[in-house]
Amino acid sequence: MIVILRRGATEEQVNRVVTGIEEAGFGAHISRGEERTIVGAIGTSPEMRPHLMEKFTGMPFVDRVVPVLKPYKLVSAEARPEPTVVEVGDVPVGPGTFTVIAGPCAVESEEQLIEDARAVRQAGARLLRGGAFKPRTSPYDFQGLGEEGLKLLAAAGAETGMPVVTEARSPDHVELVARYADAIQVGARNMQNFDLLTEAGRSRLPVVLKRGFSSTVEEWMKAAEYVASVGNLNIILCERGVRTYEPAVRFTQDLAIVPVVRELSHLPIIVDPSHASGNRALVPAVCRAAVAIGADGLLVEVHPDPDGALCDPAQQLSPGQFADVMEQVCKVASVMGRAV
Ligand code: PEP
Ligand code: MN
Repeated sequence: MIVILRRGATEEQVNRVVTGIEEAGFGAHISRGEERTIVGAIGTSPEMRPHLMEKFTGMPFVDRVVPVLKPYKLVSAEARPEPTVVEVGDVPVGPGTFTVIAGPCAVESEEQLIEDARAVRQAGARLLRGGAFKPRTSPYDFQGLGEEGLKLLAAAGAETGMPVVTEARSPDHVELVARYADAIQVGARNMQNFDLLTEAGRSRLPVVLKRGFSSTVEEWMKAAEYVASVGNLNIILCERGVRTYEPAVRFTQDLAIVPVVRELSHLPIIVDPSHASGNRALVPAVCRAAVAIGADGLLVEVHPDPDGALCDPAQQLSPGQFADVMEQVCKVASVMGRAV
């Protein structure tokens, strides 16, 4: 952390900064330029850094405080220069491979799910998704089948040889979800539900952490740090669109965040074009773009009868459309040196 003092700061003011750093137990290094004095804090702990930054920012003779290290540690690329491969069941997510997670928005019935699971597996998906606990904006919308849905997921996953990814909507769901699933999804609306993040982390299962739709990448990384801080580094980041002024799409897919996250973190990152676009006509193009920009995988909603879906009907692909998308994805992936 570097504290840059305002022009004309007095010796006494410089000393107040130095003392503040030293009283917190860290080293201070003064550097006097022709116009400005800069004080570097050496050896600061991640727990104290935010507090010290705020303290010095509030001092009227301080121009600004510049962090040197990222405010998250375990998930940062600084902590681990090699990219992490997260294994969901026996399916790797990370460098070299390109992993497609597919299935319906919500588990609706045994027939719907098994038909869908067979179709997505046949087309090349490796992981099965489906919501049993749906986070719905309206309390009157279909909320999911709960445990019954989890049982159907486990059965469909076992039959088709696909590990299962499903959402836990609250900390209370985690234990139940972990009994049936191979990875726990934390939804966009829950990205900063810190109790859920901690509980999902404690489950030891991989966590698919969606980006909140009004979250900065730093907030997203700090949310991942919650999972990591209880000893679980099996985290897959999922960019699912952010809210902007543009009504032509449901959310705005922030694809450029993929290379940004690559720089910041060792964790794998996948892209969800279904929730971002909200419209099945847009999904194939965004899937191709996600592979090309270097994502580690996709999360795609597929329903045997999209128009009849109880949840997110406009964005779900039919099995035939999904098979076409997979063909295109395979072509782009081979150019990118990734095996689907
Ligand atoms: C989902 O994956 O079905 C879902 C609800 O996603 P999000 O949290 O990104 O809206
Ligand atoms: Mn959905």
